[in-house]
Amino acid sequence: MIRHLALSALLLAGPGALVAEDKPATIAEVPKTERLKPEQWCATHDVPKDMCTTCDRKRIPVLKKAKDWCGEHDIAESLCVKCDPKAKDRLDAQRPNEKAKSAK
Ligand SMILES: [Zn+2]
Ligand SMILES: [Zn+2]
Repeated sequence: MIRHLALSALLLAGPGALVAEDKPATIAEVPKTERLKPEQWCATHDVPKDMCTTCDRKRIPVLKKAKDWCGEHDIAESLCVKCDPKAKDRLDAQRPNEKAKSAK
């Protein structure tokens, strides 16, 4: 009899314990490239303004420190189309919709 009660208690505790363990695995969030606002975009150099080392040379050491620098082409590695053709897609995805004044 005592054994039976203990078993019941165990069964009652069971499902609750299982639910706690059964959390769905967190799905890794894919970093989504967001379109920037026109004021965040350097239309002159066709790069995000905060990455434009042509406009502000002070960004270079910052990018180097972040290990996002292509010394060969003198541009942020993540923007270097010559090293990574996908960089163009990333730029296209970020470029504001508003038509820039450039001739292209
Ligand atoms: Zn610029
Ligand atoms: Zn490069």
